[in-house]
Amino acid sequence: ESFDDYDLNENLLRGIYSYGFEKPSAIQQRGIKPILDGRDTIGQAQSGTGKTATFVIGALQRIDYSNNVTQALILAPTRELANQIHKVALALGDYNKIKAHVCIGGTSVRDDIDKLRDGQHLVVGTPGRVYDMVNKRNLRVDDLQVFVLDEADELMSRGFKDQIYDIFKCLPPNVQVCLFSATMAPEILDMTSKFMRDAVRILV
Ligand code: AMP
Repeated sequence: ESFDDYDLNENLLRGIYSYGFEKPSAIQQRGIKPILDGRDTIGQAQSGTGKTATFVIGALQRIDYSNNVTQALILAPTRELANQIHKVALALGDYNKIKAHVCIGGTSVRDDIDKLRDGQHLVVGTPGRVYDMVNKRNLRVDDLQVFVLDEADELMSRGFKDQIYDIFKCLPPNVQVCLFSATMAPEILDMTSKFMRDAVRILV
């Protein structure tokens, strides 16, 4: 199986190969297609499997680059992880001239507001700052196509449940949800049953 098989836009494909990926990993072979099909997707996978590129490629293909509004939102449990995901999105989205911003605590709120006002195709961040931006309408989510929760078990164990539920309540009701987690604890299953519909499940 090859990245050429997914009908990805040419610039995204160039981004993938320029980044050094030659062929999709196991989780990419099983996860990219359902995300591109618009299905809610649950991936049970550890880091090291290539899960980041799975949801980043899926999200990047869903973006209409001529429309300078936020179409993909990714939540991660730590600032470091949010920054890593942002770097991958910028690299793979480079030939599409993607605009992507990180919203994390410990950085200037003013700067977030300015960057968001400027228009960002993709936003990745930690739940506290992202909720703050969504709640105050600095981050508009009306045109969101896909919402990704990375390391959902970590998000829960770090006490982000309420903020995540609050974010969900602001999103368009039909938004596609993709959730990745190393484990499927009861509170994660609870969230998937509340906010996801007819999800494809992948265990790597
Ligand atoms: P992750 O599980 O997302 O943390 O990715 C683990 C590592 O695998 C990262 O260094 C990625 O850059 C790398 N990686 C992900 N997908 C591929 C691929 N298809 N080919 C080669 N390396 C990959």
